[in-house]
Amino acid sequence: MTQASTGKPELLVLRPLMPGQMEQIENAFQLHRYDLAEDKQAFLVEVGSRIRGVVTAGSPGFKADMLPHLPALEIVASASVGTDSIDVSACKARGIHVTNTPEVLNDDVADLAIGLILNALRRLGDGHDYVRSGEWSRNGMMALGRSLKGRRLGVVGLGRIGMEIAQRAQAMKMTIAYTGRSKKDVPFEYFPTPVDLAQNCDILVLACPGGAETRHLINAEVLEAMRPDAWIINISRGSVIDEAALIDALERRAIGGAGLDVFENEPHIDTRFHTLDNVVLFPHHASGTVETRAAMSQLVVDNLKAHFSGQALPTPV
Ligand code: NAP
Repeated sequence: MTQASTGKPELLVLRPLMPGQMEQIENAFQLHRYDLAEDKQAFLVEVGSRIRGVVTAGSPGFKADMLPHLPALEIVASASVGTDSIDVSACKARGIHVTNTPEVLNDDVADLAIGLILNALRRLGDGHDYVRSGEWSRNGMMALGRSLKGRRLGVVGLGRIGMEIAQRAQAMKMTIAYTGRSKKDVPFEYFPTPVDLAQNCDILVLACPGGAETRHLINAEVLEAMRPDAWIINISRGSVIDEAALIDALERRAIGGAGLDVFENEPHIDTRFHTLDNVVLFPHHASGTVETRAAMSQLVVDNLKAHFSGQALPTPV
Protein backbone atom coordinates (compact mmCIF):
# COMPACT_ATOMS: atom_id res chain seq x y z
CA MET A 1 0.00 0.00 0.00
CA THR A 2 1.42 3.40 -0.94
CA GLN A 3 0.90 6.35 1.38
CA ALA A 4 -0.52 9.79 0.58
CA SER A 5 2.12 12.50 0.21
CA THR A 6 3.31 14.03 3.48
CA GLY A 7 4.88 17.07 1.82
CA LYS A 8 8.44 15.83 2.45
CA PRO A 9 10.62 14.99 -0.57
CA GLU A 10 9.82 11.44 -1.64
CA LEU A 11 12.54 8.84 -2.15
CA LEU A 12 12.51 5.46 -3.84
CA VAL A 13 14.60 2.97 -1.85
CA LEU A 14 16.16 0.33 -4.10
CA ARG A 15 18.51 -0.87 -1.37
CA PRO A 16 18.17 0.16 2.31
CA LEU A 17 20.91 1.92 4.27
CA MET A 18 22.22 0.80 7.67
CA PRO A 19 19.55 1.07 10.41
CA GLY A 20 20.86 4.31 11.96
CA GLN A 21 20.88 6.03 8.59
CA MET A 22 17.50 4.55 7.58
CA GLU A 23 16.11 6.24 10.67
CA GLN A 24 17.60 9.57 9.56
CA ILE A 25 16.05 9.42 6.08
CA GLU A 26 12.74 8.15 7.48
CA ASN A 27 12.59 11.37 9.53
CA ALA A 28 13.66 13.76 6.79
CA PHE A 29 11.92 12.23 3.75
CA GLN A 30 8.97 10.12 2.72
CA LEU A 31 10.28 6.68 1.74
CA HIS A 32 8.85 4.26 -0.79
CA ARG A 33 10.32 0.79 -0.30
CA TYR A 34 10.78 -0.56 -3.82
CA ASP A 35 13.13 -3.14 -2.29
CA LEU A 36 10.20 -4.61 -0.32
CA ALA A 37 7.50 -4.30 -3.01
CA GLU A 38 6.19 -7.62 -4.31
CA ASP A 39 5.12 -6.31 -7.71
CA LYS A 40 7.97 -3.90 -8.38
CA GLN A 41 6.76 -2.72 -11.79
CA ALA A 42 3.27 -1.90 -10.46
CA PHE A 43 4.84 -0.13 -7.47
CA LEU A 44 7.03 1.98 -9.77
CA VAL A 45 4.07 2.95 -11.95
CA GLU A 46 2.06 3.90 -8.84
CA VAL A 47 4.60 6.09 -7.02
CA GLY A 48 7.06 6.97 -9.79
CA SER A 49 5.74 10.45 -10.62
CA ARG A 50 6.25 11.57 -6.98
CA ILE A 51 9.84 10.36 -6.62
CA ARG A 52 12.55 13.06 -6.35
CA GLY A 53 15.43 10.92 -5.06
CA VAL A 54 16.66 7.32 -5.36
CA VAL A 55 18.62 5.47 -2.67
CA THR A 56 20.69 2.60 -4.02
CA ALA A 57 24.06 0.82 -3.83
CA GLY A 58 26.51 -0.93 -6.16
CA SER A 59 23.93 -3.71 -6.41
CA PRO A 60 21.29 -3.08 -7.78
CA GLY A 61 22.74 0.21 -9.06
CA PHE A 62 20.37 2.31 -11.19
CA LYS A 63 19.32 1.46 -14.74
CA ALA A 64 18.15 4.01 -17.33
CA ASP A 65 14.99 1.98 -18.00
CA MET A 66 13.57 3.31 -14.72
CA LEU A 67 13.88 6.92 -15.87
CA PRO A 68 10.65 7.12 -17.90
CA HIS A 69 8.76 6.22 -14.69
CA LEU A 70 10.56 8.88 -12.64
CA PRO A 71 9.86 12.24 -14.36
CA ALA A 72 10.53 14.29 -11.19
CA LEU A 73 13.80 12.57 -10.28
CA GLU A 74 16.57 14.95 -9.14
CA ILE A 75 19.20 12.75 -7.50
CA VAL A 76 20.46 9.15 -7.37
CA ALA A 77 22.48 8.57 -4.20
CA SER A 78 24.45 5.33 -4.16
CA ALA A 79 26.17 3.66 -1.20
CA SER A 80 29.14 2.59 -3.34
CA VAL A 81 32.23 4.22 -4.79
CA GLY A 82 31.94 2.23 -8.02
CA THR A 83 29.40 3.65 -10.47
CA ASP A 84 29.63 0.93 -13.12
CA SER A 85 26.13 -0.34 -12.25
CA ILE A 86 24.60 3.15 -12.55
CA ASP A 87 23.61 4.69 -15.88
CA VAL A 88 25.44 7.91 -15.00
CA SER A 89 25.38 9.42 -18.49
CA ALA A 90 21.61 8.87 -18.87
CA CYS A 91 21.08 10.58 -15.50
CA LYS A 92 23.37 13.49 -16.31
CA ALA A 93 21.71 13.97 -19.71
CA ARG A 94 18.48 14.69 -17.80
CA GLY A 95 20.16 16.91 -15.22
CA ILE A 96 19.84 14.26 -12.48
CA HIS A 97 22.65 14.31 -9.92
CA VAL A 98 24.51 11.12 -9.04
CA THR A 99 26.48 10.73 -5.80
CA ASN A 100 28.76 7.93 -4.56
CA THR A 101 30.80 7.16 -1.43
CA PRO A 102 34.53 7.59 -2.09
CA GLU A 103 37.32 7.58 0.53
CA VAL A 104 35.39 6.19 3.52
CA LEU A 105 35.90 2.59 2.38
CA ASN A 106 39.56 2.83 1.28
CA ASP A 107 41.06 1.29 4.41
CA ASP A 108 38.74 -1.68 4.73
CA VAL A 109 38.98 -2.55 1.04
CA ALA A 110 42.79 -2.24 1.12
CA ASP A 111 42.93 -4.38 4.29
CA LEU A 112 40.90 -7.05 2.54
CA ALA A 113 43.25 -7.03 -0.45
CA ILE A 114 46.15 -7.60 1.93
CA GLY A 115 44.08 -10.29 3.68
CA LEU A 116 43.60 -12.13 0.38
CA ILE A 117 47.35 -11.90 -0.29
CA LEU A 118 48.17 -13.26 3.18
CA ASN A 119 45.58 -15.98 2.80
CA ALA A 120 47.03 -16.93 -0.59
CA LEU A 121 50.73 -16.97 0.24
CA ARG A 122 50.60 -18.01 3.90
CA ARG A 123 47.66 -20.36 3.35
CA LEU A 124 45.51 -19.15 6.24
CA GLY A 125 42.42 -21.02 5.03
CA ASP A 126 44.39 -24.21 4.44
CA GLY A 127 45.95 -23.93 7.90
CA HIS A 128 42.54 -23.45 9.50
CA ASP A 129 41.23 -26.56 7.73
CA TYR A 130 44.41 -28.48 8.63
CA VAL A 131 43.92 -27.88 12.34
CA ARG A 132 40.14 -28.43 12.37
CA SER A 133 40.24 -31.65 10.35
CA GLY A 134 42.75 -33.24 12.73
CA GLU A 135 45.34 -33.54 9.95
CA TRP A 136 47.87 -31.66 12.08
CA SER A 137 47.73 -34.29 14.82
CA ARG A 138 47.82 -37.13 12.29
CA ASN A 139 50.42 -35.83 9.80
CA GLY A 140 52.44 -33.13 11.57
CA MET A 141 53.56 -29.93 9.88
CA MET A 142 51.47 -28.65 6.97
CA ALA A 143 52.97 -27.70 3.60
CA LEU A 144 55.09 -24.55 3.53
CA GLY A 145 53.76 -21.17 2.42
CA ARG A 146 55.62 -18.35 0.65
CA SER A 147 57.04 -15.11 2.13
CA LEU A 148 55.46 -11.74 1.41
CA LYS A 149 58.72 -9.92 2.11
CA GLY A 150 60.60 -9.10 -1.09
CA ARG A 151 57.66 -9.89 -3.41
CA ARG A 152 56.92 -7.48 -6.23
CA LEU A 153 53.36 -6.19 -5.99
CA GLY A 154 51.82 -4.75 -9.15
CA VAL A 155 48.74 -2.53 -8.76
CA VAL A 156 46.37 -2.09 -11.71
CA GLY A 157 44.75 1.30 -10.95
CA LEU A 158 46.75 3.28 -8.39
CA GLY A 159 43.84 5.40 -7.18
CA ARG A 160 42.52 5.95 -3.66
CA ILE A 161 42.23 2.25 -2.81
CA GLY A 162 45.21 1.16 -4.91
CA MET A 163 47.42 3.64 -3.05
CA GLU A 164 46.30 2.30 0.34
CA ILE A 165 47.10 -1.23 -0.80
CA ALA A 166 50.53 -0.10 -2.02
CA GLN A 167 51.32 1.60 1.30
CA ARG A 168 50.32 -1.49 3.28
CA ALA A 169 52.38 -3.72 0.99
CA GLN A 170 55.38 -1.41 1.41
CA ALA A 171 55.09 -1.74 5.18
CA MET A 172 55.20 -5.51 4.66
CA LYS A 173 58.50 -5.09 2.76
CA MET A 174 57.16 -5.75 -0.72
CA THR A 175 58.27 -3.60 -3.68
CA ILE A 176 55.55 -1.77 -5.60
CA ALA A 177 54.88 -1.13 -9.27
CA TYR A 178 51.71 -0.07 -11.05
CA THR A 179 49.88 0.50 -14.30
CA GLY A 180 47.07 2.88 -15.20
CA ARG A 181 46.09 5.36 -17.86
CA SER A 182 48.69 7.84 -16.61
CA LYS A 183 52.01 7.92 -14.78
CA LYS A 184 51.69 9.40 -11.30
CA ASP A 185 54.03 11.37 -9.06
CA VAL A 186 54.82 8.40 -6.80
CA PRO A 187 58.05 6.57 -5.97
CA PHE A 188 56.83 3.36 -7.62
CA GLU A 189 57.82 1.96 -11.01
CA TYR A 190 55.24 2.60 -13.78
CA PHE A 191 54.48 0.11 -16.53
CA PRO A 192 52.34 1.37 -19.41
CA THR A 193 50.26 -1.79 -19.86
CA PRO A 194 48.91 -4.64 -17.70
CA VAL A 195 51.04 -7.08 -19.76
CA ASP A 196 54.24 -5.15 -18.91
CA LEU A 197 53.23 -5.07 -15.26
CA ALA A 198 52.30 -8.77 -15.21
CA GLN A 199 55.74 -9.67 -16.56
CA ASN A 200 57.36 -7.75 -13.72
CA CYS A 201 55.46 -8.70 -10.57
CA ASP A 202 54.69 -11.65 -8.29
CA ILE A 203 51.27 -10.42 -7.15
CA LEU A 204 48.95 -8.53 -9.49
CA VAL A 205 46.28 -6.56 -7.58
CA LEU A 206 43.32 -5.08 -9.44
CA ALA A 207 42.01 -1.80 -7.99
CA CYS A 208 40.67 0.02 -11.06
CA PRO A 209 36.97 0.77 -11.70
CA GLY A 210 34.67 -1.67 -13.50
CA GLY A 211 32.54 -0.78 -16.53
CA ALA A 212 32.94 -0.84 -20.29
CA GLU A 213 36.37 0.81 -20.33
CA THR A 214 38.06 -1.84 -18.19
CA ARG A 215 36.03 -4.87 -19.30
CA HIS A 216 38.41 -7.84 -19.65
CA LEU A 217 41.42 -5.56 -19.16
CA ILE A 218 42.96 -8.69 -17.68
CA ASN A 219 42.68 -11.15 -20.56
CA ALA A 220 44.46 -14.33 -21.66
CA GLU A 221 47.47 -12.31 -22.85
CA VAL A 222 47.96 -10.69 -19.43
CA LEU A 223 47.50 -14.01 -17.64
CA GLU A 224 50.01 -15.60 -20.02
CA ALA A 225 52.52 -12.86 -19.11
CA MET A 226 52.31 -13.74 -15.41
CA ARG A 227 54.90 -15.99 -13.79
CA PRO A 228 53.69 -19.54 -13.08
CA ASP A 229 53.85 -18.89 -9.31
CA ALA A 230 52.31 -15.38 -9.44
CA TRP A 231 48.92 -14.63 -7.87
CA ILE A 232 46.21 -12.32 -9.08
CA ILE A 233 44.08 -10.51 -6.48
CA ASN A 234 40.84 -8.79 -7.50
CA ILE A 235 38.95 -6.36 -5.27
CA SER A 236 37.81 -4.13 -8.18
CA ARG A 237 34.98 -5.64 -10.25
CA GLY A 238 34.46 -9.09 -11.75
CA SER A 239 34.14 -7.58 -15.23
CA VAL A 240 37.81 -6.49 -15.19
CA ILE A 241 39.00 -10.11 -15.63
CA ASP A 242 38.08 -12.39 -18.53
CA GLU A 243 36.91 -15.08 -16.12
CA ALA A 244 36.90 -17.90 -18.69
CA ALA A 245 40.58 -17.14 -19.41
CA LEU A 246 41.31 -16.96 -15.67
CA ILE A 247 39.69 -20.31 -14.92
CA ASP A 248 41.58 -21.84 -17.84
CA ALA A 249 44.89 -20.48 -16.45
CA LEU A 250 44.02 -21.75 -12.96
CA GLU A 251 43.08 -25.23 -14.24
CA ARG A 252 46.31 -25.47 -16.23
CA ARG A 253 48.25 -24.10 -13.24
CA ALA A 254 49.70 -21.50 -15.59
CA ILE A 255 49.60 -19.04 -12.65
CA GLY A 256 50.00 -19.57 -8.89
CA GLY A 257 46.41 -18.73 -8.04
CA ALA A 258 43.71 -16.10 -7.61
CA GLY A 259 42.32 -14.28 -4.57
CA LEU A 260 38.91 -12.94 -5.56
CA ASP A 261 36.37 -10.71 -3.81
CA VAL A 262 34.45 -10.01 -7.04
CA PHE A 263 33.20 -12.19 -9.91
CA GLU A 264 31.64 -11.82 -13.34
CA ASN A 265 28.28 -13.32 -12.40
CA GLU A 266 28.07 -12.80 -8.64
CA PRO A 267 26.58 -14.13 -6.47
CA HIS A 268 25.98 -17.07 -8.85
CA ILE A 269 29.66 -17.63 -9.53
CA ASP A 270 31.10 -20.14 -11.98
CA THR A 271 30.87 -23.48 -10.14
CA ARG A 272 34.40 -24.43 -11.20
CA PHE A 273 35.59 -22.01 -8.48
CA HIS A 274 34.03 -24.41 -5.93
CA THR A 275 36.60 -27.12 -6.64
CA LEU A 276 39.77 -25.27 -7.72
CA ASP A 277 42.41 -25.58 -4.98
CA ASN A 278 44.45 -22.55 -6.10
CA VAL A 279 41.86 -19.89 -5.27
CA VAL A 280 40.92 -17.86 -2.21
CA LEU A 281 37.32 -16.63 -2.44
CA PHE A 282 35.38 -13.87 -0.66
CA PRO A 283 31.73 -12.83 -1.28
CA HIS A 284 32.18 -9.23 -2.56
CA HIS A 285 32.51 -8.00 0.98
CA ALA A 286 35.68 -5.89 0.95
CA SER A 287 33.84 -2.88 2.40
CA GLY A 288 31.65 -5.14 4.56
CA THR A 289 32.34 -3.88 8.07
CA VAL A 290 29.89 -2.26 10.48
CA GLU A 291 31.99 0.91 10.57
CA THR A 292 32.49 1.36 6.84
CA ARG A 293 28.94 0.45 5.86
CA ALA A 294 27.70 3.05 8.39
CA ALA A 295 30.07 5.67 6.94
CA MET A 296 28.92 4.86 3.40
CA SER A 297 25.27 5.07 4.48
CA GLN A 298 25.96 8.39 6.20
CA LEU A 299 27.42 9.85 3.00
CA VAL A 300 24.22 8.87 1.18
CA VAL A 301 22.18 10.70 3.84
CA ASP A 302 24.49 13.72 3.73
CA ASN A 303 24.25 13.96 -0.05
CA LEU A 304 20.44 13.72 0.01
CA LYS A 305 20.10 16.29 2.79
CA ALA A 306 22.53 18.65 1.04
CA HIS A 307 20.65 18.37 -2.24
CA PHE A 308 17.20 18.98 -0.76
CA SER A 309 18.42 21.95 1.29
CA GLY A 310 20.10 23.56 -1.72
CA GLN A 311 23.68 23.00 -0.56
CA ALA A 312 26.67 21.65 -2.50
CA LEU A 313 26.77 17.87 -2.76
CA PRO A 314 29.56 16.35 -0.60
CA THR A 315 30.48 13.64 -3.14
CA PRO A 316 29.05 14.18 -6.63
CA VAL A 317 30.06 11.79 -9.43
P1 NAP B 1 39.80 5.77 -7.94
O1 NAP B 1 40.40 6.58 -6.85
O2 NAP B 1 39.07 6.47 -9.03
O3 NAP B 1 40.96 4.87 -8.57
C1 NAP B 1 40.80 4.12 -9.71
C2 NAP B 1 42.14 4.01 -10.40
O4 NAP B 1 41.97 3.19 -11.56
C3 NAP B 1 42.69 5.35 -10.87
O5 NAP B 1 43.96 5.51 -10.32
C4 NAP B 1 42.78 5.23 -12.37
O6 NAP B 1 44.05 5.73 -12.70
C5 NAP B 1 42.71 3.74 -12.63
N1 NAP B 1 42.08 3.43 -13.90
C6 NAP B 1 40.96 3.96 -14.41
N2 NAP B 1 40.71 3.43 -15.61
C7 NAP B 1 41.73 2.57 -15.85
C8 NAP B 1 42.05 1.73 -16.94
N3 NAP B 1 41.28 1.69 -18.03
N4 NAP B 1 43.16 0.98 -16.85
C9 NAP B 1 43.94 1.02 -15.74
N5 NAP B 1 43.68 1.79 -14.68
C10 NAP B 1 42.59 2.57 -14.75
O7 NAP B 1 38.78 4.70 -7.38
P2 NAP B 1 38.80 3.97 -5.95
O8 NAP B 1 38.00 4.75 -4.99
O9 NAP B 1 40.21 3.61 -5.60
O10 NAP B 1 37.95 2.66 -6.30
C11 NAP B 1 38.41 1.80 -7.31
C12 NAP B 1 37.38 0.72 -7.59
O11 NAP B 1 37.38 -0.24 -6.55
C13 NAP B 1 35.92 1.19 -7.62
O12 NAP B 1 35.57 1.79 -8.86
C14 NAP B 1 35.16 -0.09 -7.37
O13 NAP B 1 34.83 -0.73 -8.59
C15 NAP B 1 36.16 -0.95 -6.60
N6 NAP B 1 35.70 -1.20 -5.22
C16 NAP B 1 35.40 -2.47 -4.84
C17 NAP B 1 34.96 -2.71 -3.54
C18 NAP B 1 34.66 -4.11 -3.08
O14 NAP B 1 33.83 -4.28 -2.20
N7 NAP B 1 35.30 -5.11 -3.63
C19 NAP B 1 34.80 -1.65 -2.65
C20 NAP B 1 35.11 -0.37 -3.08
C21 NAP B 1 35.56 -0.15 -4.36
P3 NAP B 1 44.35 6.48 -14.03
O15 NAP B 1 43.34 7.60 -14.12
O16 NAP B 1 45.73 6.94 -13.91
O17 NAP B 1 44.17 5.45 -15.08
